[in-house]
Amino acid sequence: MNFKNVTVAGSGVLGYQIAFQTAFHGFKVSVYDINDEVLAKAKAKFYELCECYKQDLNATQEQLDNTFNNLSYHSNLAEAVKDADLLVEAVPEDANIKTEFYKQLSLVAPEKTVFATNTSTMLPSHFKDLTGRPEKFLALHFSNKIWTFNMAEIMGHAGTDKKVFDDVVEFAKAIGMMALPIYKEQPGHLLNSMLVPFLISATELWVKEVSDHEMIDRAWMKSFGSPLGPFAILDIIGINTVYNVAKLNAETNPNMTPLMEKLDAEFIKPGHLGMFAGKGFYSYPNPTYASEDFLKS
Ligand code: NAD
Repeated sequence: MNFKNVTVAGSGVLGYQIAFQTAFHGFKVSVYDINDEVLAKAKAKFYELCECYKQDLNATQEQLDNTFNNLSYHSNLAEAVKDADLLVEAVPEDANIKTEFYKQLSLVAPEKTVFATNTSTMLPSHFKDLTGRPEKFLALHFSNKIWTFNMAEIMGHAGTDKKVFDDVVEFAKAIGMMALPIYKEQPGHLLNSMLVPFLISATELWVKEVSDHEMIDRAWMKSFGSPLGPFAILDIIGINTVYNVAKLNAETNPNMTPLMEKLDAEFIKPGHLGMFAGKGFYSYPNPTYASEDFLKS
C-alpha cells in the first residue's frame, strides 16, 4: 500500500472523524465539503476532537499540531481530489446525493484514485458503474467515535480488484483501525447485520410490554457479562436515528408501526433523544445500568 494523499468527502458526523484520524496517522488529508461555511464548522470540530485525543489516546500537542499541518480544506471537488491516492466518501446516506456525487467525482478524479464509500446501508455494487473505475471501488465502513471504537469493515463488490482490497485493508490498519475484511457483499456489513435484528427483537419485547427495558437489558448483560444491554446501545446510537429507521421500515412493514409510534410519543416529542441528550431509556451521565447494583440479585 503506498497511499499518501487521502481525500475525505463530506465532513459531517463521520467524515470529520475519518479525516482527523487519517491526518493524525501521518497522511495528507484534503477535506472536501459543499461550501466554506460547512468546512469552517469541520475545522472547529477538529479542535474539539483534540480534547478527546488527549484524554482517550494521550495524544501530545506535537502530534496534534502535526495533524493540523496534514489537513487542508476544499469546496472545489477537482482541487480536493487532484493528488488523491484514496478518496473516502462520507456524504449523506441518501442514494440520490451519493449518485450525483460519484457522477461528478468520476469526471475529475485522477485515474489512480481508489474510491471507498463509508455507507452504512447501501452496497458498493449500487454505485460501481458510476465511478468510472469499478475495480478500484469498495466500502470502507467505520464506527462512530472512530478513535476509540477503532474498527473498519472492508467490503468490495464482485469486481473489486484484490490488490485494491488488500491495500485498503493495510490503509485501515495504518490509521489505527482493527481491519475486518468481508469476503462477500452483505447489506449491513458484519456489525449491523447482527446488531439490527438483535435490537429489533429487544424493542419488540418492550413494545409488547413483555417486560421493561431494564429487565431486558439485565437478561442480556447478566448472561454474557456484557457491559451494555440493547436499550443502552439504543441510547448510544441516538433515539432519533432509531426512530427514523423504524419510520422508514414501517412504510413497508406494518409490524414496525407500534415501535415508531411509541418512540415518537415517549422519546421524540419530549426530547429524550438518548445519551447525547442526557436522557433516553436511561438518564445520563450516571445511567442505572452502569451502577454496581444493577446486576445484583
Ligand atoms: P452527515 O449528514 O453528518 O454528514 C454528511 C456531510 O456531507 C455533511 O457535512 C454535508 O455537508 C456533506 N455533503 C452533502 N452533500 C455533499 C456532496 N454532494 N458532496 C460532499 N459533501 C456533501 O452524515 P454522516 O452521519 O457523517 O454519514 C455519512 C456517511 O457515513 C453515510 O454514508 C453514513 O451511512 C455513514 N456512516 C455514518 C455513521 C454515523 O454514526 N453517523 C456511522 C457509520 C457510517
